[in-house]
Amino acid sequence: MSFLENIRRVEPYVPGEQPRDSGVIKLNTNENPYPPSPAAAKALGAFSADSLRLYPDPAASSLVDAIAQRYGLAPGEVFVGVGSDDVLALLFLTFFNSGKPVLFPDITYSFYDVWAELFRIPYEQIPLDESFGIIPEDYFRENGGIVFPNPNAPTGKLLPLESVRRIVEGSPDSIVIIDEAYIDFGGESALPLIHEYDNVIVVQTFSKSRSAAGLRLGYAMSNASLIRYLNDVKYSFNSYTMNRLTIEAGAALIRDEEYFQSTIRRIIRTRQETTASLRDLGFIVPESAANFVFASHPSASGEELFTYLKSKKIYVRWWNKPRIRNYLRITIGTDEEMGILLEALKEYLRRSL
Ligand code: PMP
Repeated sequence: MSFLENIRRVEPYVPGEQPRDSGVIKLNTNENPYPPSPAAAKALGAFSADSLRLYPDPAASSLVDAIAQRYGLAPGEVFVGVGSDDVLALLFLTFFNSGKPVLFPDITYSFYDVWAELFRIPYEQIPLDESFGIIPEDYFRENGGIVFPNPNAPTGKLLPLESVRRIVEGSPDSIVIIDEAYIDFGGESALPLIHEYDNVIVVQTFSKSRSAAGLRLGYAMSNASLIRYLNDVKYSFNSYTMNRLTIEAGAALIRDEEYFQSTIRRIIRTRQETTASLRDLGFIVPESAANFVFASHPSASGEELFTYLKSKKIYVRWWNKPRIRNYLRITIGTDEEMGILLEALKEYLRRSL
């Protein structure tokens, strides 16, 4: 017997590429094309490097308080982590232990099945309908928990709050996690449900609508009892997840509501224009409520479009998976970036059709 037989072997999640070449138009990881609020630069400018000598506050209280205040919650109802990926992974570890399958859509954030495999949690992937919609009734079955993004990724499709509520009501005996990474771009948050039901957890992030993917800051909001269980697991794993810089910059960012709202408005406007232009070129584009669109062309293969765009230094995301291999997920960039993308697509279609 060799130690090789005792290794936890996993098929890791593959993040979108982060090219070193600065000439790339990067529309592949749903980052925000606009910089974060100047409040972040101010906070970092005032940061004392001497303070790095000391461990950070393990509870990140000043940051938790600022987030709680923004959402009208008690600090005990907020949990922060190293991006929402960290928060979601800890949620899987804390709450999905029944041995029954956890449910999530077949087309969704491709980290869910990776965490389930990593933690040996059984799971079932529930098919979306033909137009990529989540059907609440399909989740009315025995389960060890439910998780889905709203809006869903990579489709961008929004599930109305009433349908989210039906999913929650259908599984009162398991935890329902709503991953709202993209909710600020036009969706109605399920946050009020955390006070109506005892089994709901809402997860959000600073990576998209707050333009701070590089900060690595995500948060969960739920009733104080569930947040306590989550903290118990966190403190059993790593006490100091939040570094001093993130605590300072994050608290400053969440207080700048005006900048946040203005950035969102710009992205939504560009998304609407991009959707219309792509449809004019013959693309099928489901209505998106996120900072990306999911687009397919009836007479061009997804892989070819992806490769062509890459050769033009325009990076988008493409998955070689059933049902979606003809689609590209395109992050909404600046108007200028979207103009260059549309010109490239026009050129491709003119030459190949
Ligand atoms: N959930 C969804 C649906 C996502 O698309 C992403 C971004 N990859 C995340 C969570 C994680 O984002 P972050 O860790 O940057 O908060």
